[in-house]
Amino acid sequence: MTSILIVEDEARIRAFITKGLKAAGYAAVGVATGREGIDHGLSEEFDLIVLDIGLPDIDGFDVLDQLRGSGVRTPVIVLTARTSVDDTVQSLETGADDYMPKPFRFEELLARVRLRLRATADAPGSAAAASATSLEHGGVRLDLRTRRVTVDGAEVELSAREFSLAQELLEHAGQVLTREQLLSRVWGYDFDPASNVVDVYIRYLRRKLGSERIETVRGVGYRLASRS
Ligand code: CA
Repeated sequence: MTSILIVEDEARIRAFITKGLKAAGYAAVGVATGREGIDHGLSEEFDLIVLDIGLPDIDGFDVLDQLRGSGVRTPVIVLTARTSVDDTVQSLETGADDYMPKPFRFEELLARVRLRLRATADAPGSAAAASATSLEHGGVRLDLRTRRVTVDGAEVELSAREFSLAQELLEHAGQVLTREQLLSRVWGYDFDPASNVVDVYIRYLRRKLGSERIETVRGVGYRLASRS
């Protein structure tokens, strides 16, 4: 089971994240101090660490420094105040893999968690890669390990970005995903919200998977057809 360490001193937020991650199928352990964060992080029993910057004893930057300094490569998502752009830049420089500005909706954090775990799973030889499986819907099959894609049994070539977009749609088959959700989940935080990149890639995917498989929900976003 994929396990995630949450280092957050605010009990309410810690419970919110821990509960949400458990509901999403992860083993989640919450601790309240930087010291405990380091102790748990050094054990390397976790696949991912969600780390708050504002902690009462040792701040998140120092926790990160100490972990990275000890050779711990566990991916880290830093929680930072929405206004602290400098914090964010600093955290990415000190070895965080991603950041989540507060306040956030749980779904936003979950998307980043999945993206980060997926990036780790893609690393050759990782334990996560060995346990990754496949997604299938309406004749479209994605092998998350080999990145092989078939449509009604015939192999299709997808670019890395197309694959991520297809994966996001398959993971939420039948649900409408907004452009904004797809942008933040597939392209990450580093995107221009006004960009039409999602529409462009949906067009590519339709060409490769069959146009009837992806429905446009006018004014909202896109949805994988429940069954064409
Ligand atoms: Ca805090």
